[in-house]
Amino acid sequence: MEKVVILDAGHGGINPITKQYVTPGKRSPIWKDGTQYFEGVGNREIVQLAARILKGKGVNVFFTVDPSDYRDISLSERVRTANKIFKSNPDAFLISIHSNAASDPTAHGSEIWTWPGQSKSDVFATVFMQEFVKLHPLTKVRADYSDGDIDKESKFTINSVNCPSFLIESMFHTNEVECKILMSQSGKEAIANSIVNTVIRIVS
Ligand SMILES: [Zn+2]
Repeated sequence: MEKVVILDAGHGGINPITKQYVTPGKRSPIWKDGTQYFEGVGNREIVQLAARILKGKGVNVFFTVDPSDYRDISLSERVRTANKIFKSNPDAFLISIHSNAASDPTAHGSEIWTWPGQSKSDVFATVFMQEFVKLHPLTKVRADYSDGDIDKESKFTINSVNCPSFLIESMFHTNEVECKILMSQSGKEAIANSIVNTVIRIVS
């Protein structure tokens, strides 16, 4: 198997000229200490950390949007980019990185989403959750075992790609405790490392 993965950092980043976060919503409340988490910015940092380690391990890493690019690339363009990469890299699979949000500030935990039906995506998603809980032993896995595996299934556009894919909702940025983890360097590194460990297990 060729060592290749496509990483998808959800949403946009900070426009370096206007200094504004370009994606509406997709952010935490402003916490009492004045801090705020911008999901798209965090997703990019996590992707950047994972990509650096994976490249060091000889994995060919592609992006649907370069993590240094602040633009909020549309889902249809991300899917087109991934399909193009998959065409010339038939072993490629895609991991989309997000954190979750809810109007209930106590909502917490982590979810993983695949396209409906059973495929390689479900197998890969299960590997991810195993690696994730190793590094986040206290996290609540918001699982759906109704179809015999751990992941939830929905027709999220990014998971319509031709290659195997899964989408991670790593904790809730609307939950203060989890948001502080997302904002910390060690929290981002732990998510990045669970991505790295998953990719290495799949391509080895
Ligand atoms: Zn998101």
